[in-house]
Amino acid sequence: MIQLHNVTKTYGQRRAVADLSLTVGPGEFVVLIGPSGSGKSTTLRLINRLVEFDQGSVRFAGQDIRSFAPEVLRRRMGYAIQSVGLFPHWTVEKNIGTVPRLLGWPAARIAARVQALLELLQLDPAQFARRYPHELSGGQQQRVGVARALAADPEVLLMDEPFGALDPVTRVALQQALKRIHALSGKTIVLVTHDIDEALYLGSRIVLFQDGSLVQDGSPLALLTRPANDFVTDFLGRAELGLKRLSLGTVADRVRAGEPARGDPLRSEANLREALSAFFVQGRESLPVVDAQGAPLGALHLHDLLAPQPIDPAGPRP
Ligand code: ADP
Repeated sequence: MIQLHNVTKTYGQRRAVADLSLTVGPGEFVVLIGPSGSGKSTTLRLINRLVEFDQGSVRFAGQDIRSFAPEVLRRRMGYAIQSVGLFPHWTVEKNIGTVPRLLGWPAARIAARVQALLELLQLDPAQFARRYPHELSGGQQQRVGVARALAADPEVLLMDEPFGALDPVTRVALQQALKRIHALSGKTIVLVTHDIDEALYLGSRIVLFQDGSLVQDGSPLALLTRPANDFVTDFLGRAELGLKRLSLGTVADRVRAGEPARGDPLRSEANLREALSAFFVQGRESLPVVDAQGAPLGALHLHDLLAPQPIDPAGPRP
């Protein structure tokens, strides 16, 4: 879907992106991560031509991106950023409808789309459609920003630290919403963050940058189990590697079906790190497991958290 081949972008003497090659396939959720100034945002903006590269090539849908007019490219790729950039004098519904209006959609179709997107992002249309941005909390504004980026059903969603400025509770809620959108729509998403937990939670693939270059590209499990070098280990949080690895598995993966246990139940979709915490809080070595509706499924044993996780068949990419 997107291919960067030996791309370099220089600002004055400084190489913001150096000889970068990266392929994003349809339906992937690729997270670009790395320290501040490592070239993540520049890479994202090279993809929708907000930044022009000096050398190399960037292709989208099989064609050189320079063969697309920038406005055509931007309609086919939604873009959401931390500062949101909502138009302050436009209502929520007018903001979300920006690109569909540019594309000449009939008013009824735009209205239906706005309604559906507000519902998808869990904002009640009756309450929010006619509000102005200043009448929304930061988290609600971010939701509207994401809805606007999705409005014309773009093939690709590019997101630059979309949840950067939010409190932890709102941030987690929006991460869950985005994960659901990805699962439902199968859209190709490229997201920039510097938060490793966000990357591990959201990414089907993580691309770690250092000084404008790619250090490692692989699944979350591959990065955690086979870090390419000490920089990767340190970036992932050396002291917490085991816990982060647990956070990739769910209770459902390890449940002993049909077995009884005592204690406050764990939900099957909870991750194993949360389960570990529950074992300590409750002082037990096994706990009952229930499904999303609260029906009993079996038991999880503390001991079973030690079992090795399945090795990622994709393996690390260079
Ligand atoms: P990140 O997103 O990883 O924080 P960026 O891609 O924003 O990194 O920046 C990479 C490098 O390029 C940094 O050194 C930054 O200062 C520089 N840079 C980015 N944009 C510009 C610009 N418009 N003009 C000059 N330097 C820039």
